[in-house]
Amino acid sequence: MKIHEYQAKELLRDAGVPVPLSQVAFSAEEARVAAAKLIDETDSEVVVVKSQIHAGGRGKGRFKEHPELGGVKVVKGAGAAKETAEKMFGSTLVTIQTGPEGKVVNRLLIEQGMDIKQELYLAATLDRDTGRVTIMASTEGGMDIEEVAESHPEKIFRRSVDPAFGLQGFEAREIAYKLGLDGKTARKMASFLVKFYDAYVKYDCSLLEINPLLITGAGDVYALDAKATFDDNALFRHKHIEALRDEDEEDPAELEAKNWDLSYVALDGTIGCMVNGAGLAMATMDIIKYFGAEPANFLDVGGGATEERVTAAFKIISKDPNLKGILVNIFGGIMKCDTIAKGVIGAVKEVGLEVPLVVRLEGTNVDLGKKLLGESGLKITAAGSLREAAQKIVEMTK
Ligand code: ADP
Ligand code: MG
Repeated sequence: MKIHEYQAKELLRDAGVPVPLSQVAFSAEEARVAAAKLIDETDSEVVVVKSQIHAGGRGKGRFKEHPELGGVKVVKGAGAAKETAEKMFGSTLVTIQTGPEGKVVNRLLIEQGMDIKQELYLAATLDRDTGRVTIMASTEGGMDIEEVAESHPEKIFRRSVDPAFGLQGFEAREIAYKLGLDGKTARKMASFLVKFYDAYVKYDCSLLEINPLLITGAGDVYALDAKATFDDNALFRHKHIEALRDEDEEDPAELEAKNWDLSYVALDGTIGCMVNGAGLAMATMDIIKYFGAEPANFLDVGGGATEERVTAAFKIISKDPNLKGILVNIFGGIMKCDTIAKGVIGAVKEVGLEVPLVVRLEGTNVDLGKKLLGESGLKITAAGSLREAAQKIVEMTK
């Protein structure tokens, strides 16, 4: 699960990581009030109006409705903040990460203008090879880190952290020195790093990225941007984080699937896959690719789905705009083949079937399942083996 910059900054602030003063705004008037308050508190007219969307590259992005305006705008005075907010709210911001369709801005972060001496890069993520959290730091902050990784990989410093000890002071100081810092700033950075690592662990993040990590003219260290992604499997123990979910930012099909307790993953191909079990999902997608097509999505109905859930699952798959065919591949164990058959028949009766459908059933109550499908009068192609099923659906969609 992803959250907005302003939410990530609140979590960081709670964990003792220094972040600039800021306030979220849901209307232009709220933006004005927040700006006026910041100006009062900081004794500076400079405030920054920052679009809140689940995508990076906002600074360099542009609004479709206002091509002269970027997603992050430095302004002077509360009136100017309000004017900028009026333009941003409801407008579509296009960045390298949103794709050409862009994203509509519904929330803004009004932040104090910071004195930028240096922009560094910092991230923590799980390295699956070592099974440890890796800290990545670079002097090349503010810009596209993927580009740095490609052209100057030596400029990204990595440190693997022992989970039993956490990030130790000497390790944090070493990272600070690698970033070219010394004296008071190095000490502040080391303290920042330890709190940052602790926050990553405490919140069960899968990624925590600060880009840019700011060094001010006075030598202080702040998180100027913040991106946090959480491990969905750990959200049950972080109810306050789960509550930060912004449904406007999520894929509607994945959200619908989540509400039915189904696992759905949207992909780029043309064949929709309804399966049970993650292993069978992988095998189904592999064999579709083997026969020369690409999966449009896969939906895992799991072990104990009811007929209603199977119907919901089939409807979610059918909505994919790139869909040219559907492959249902079920190995009935706890999941019974007749439940699948009834669920599929129910869904097709409700929403119709505009693309070819191949069904391969095996396992518990397979004969009953096949009988139900055969008697339904629907245009369903039955297949005996996974190979045959994949071959058939690929041919039918070519
Ligand atoms: P994104 O990564 O989506 O472009 P950032 O939050 O990193 O958004 O902001 C982009 C740039 O805008 C930063 O690299 C920094 O130069 C500038 N910026 C962002 N917030 C502030 C701020 N509070 N004060 C001054 N400059 C800022
Ligand atoms: Mg950034």
